[in-house]
Amino acid sequence: MSVKKHKQLLAKNRDEQQNILNLKMPLRARIEICRFCNLKCPSCPIGREKIKNKKVMSYDDFKIIIDKIKVSVEELSLFNYGEPLLNPNIVKMIKYAKKNGMKIINLHSNGLQLDKKLSNELIKSEIDYISFSIDGASNETYKKYRIGGDFEKVVRNVSYFIDLKRKLKFKKPVIAVQFIVMKHNQHEIKRFTKMWKDIGVDEVIIKTFNAYMSGYEDRRSNLKYLPKDSNYIRYSELRNSIFCFCYS
Ligand code: SF4
Repeated sequence: MSVKKHKQLLAKNRDEQQNILNLKMPLRARIEICRFCNLKCPSCPIGREKIKNKKVMSYDDFKIIIDKIKVSVEELSLFNYGEPLLNPNIVKMIKYAKKNGMKIINLHSNGLQLDKKLSNELIKSEIDYISFSIDGASNETYKKYRIGGDFEKVVRNVSYFIDLKRKLKFKKPVIAVQFIVMKHNQHEIKRFTKMWKDIGVDEVIIKTFNAYMSGYEDRRSNLKYLPKDSNYIRYSELRNSIFCFCYS
């Protein structure tokens, strides 16, 4: 499925969803199936170890939730904080959700767990959309924020995944790579975009940095990651005035 078609499907789905809005039922849901991670990204509450309750959701608990929400939910995100591919039942969960009427399922991952077996299983699971966090076009840049990661490994894993989908002639999932623009990596945006277009990814997402990801109280230490180019800063009060922002 092309990115365009995927977006059309989302729009169509949302139109249909308008019809059941009056029922005041949830149309979309997000389930956090893993509450820990193999990385230590410095602005993330999981990476900063602010969230101590490290757990993976069991398959039985997941089924209970799906059985309750399937009456209205059609779009399902299988991530929040934490790395979803660390849940050993991820493929079974996707299949169960699909069987129970979820039209669109997506997840976001750091890509480090994506070995050949899991790649094959995920493509065949009917998941619709997967994006991967890779905020650099070189190991030197990547490792400054994705602490504990392995640039060569994630590029190898995601490239294999893209190639396998092509070889298997599957239209889904739409595969995206995401680049969060920060001070240390903004010079690599173009290189990153070209690199992944050449590899054959469906979508390249260039995203602004969320300084409030681990809560309002941590924003001060996160501001140092904001890029110099104000086009890539989402906070209007911080554009061109990063160093005189009043925290009180
Ligand atoms: S990869 Fe995602 S969940 Fe893991 S520490 Fe980084 S931001 Fe947090």
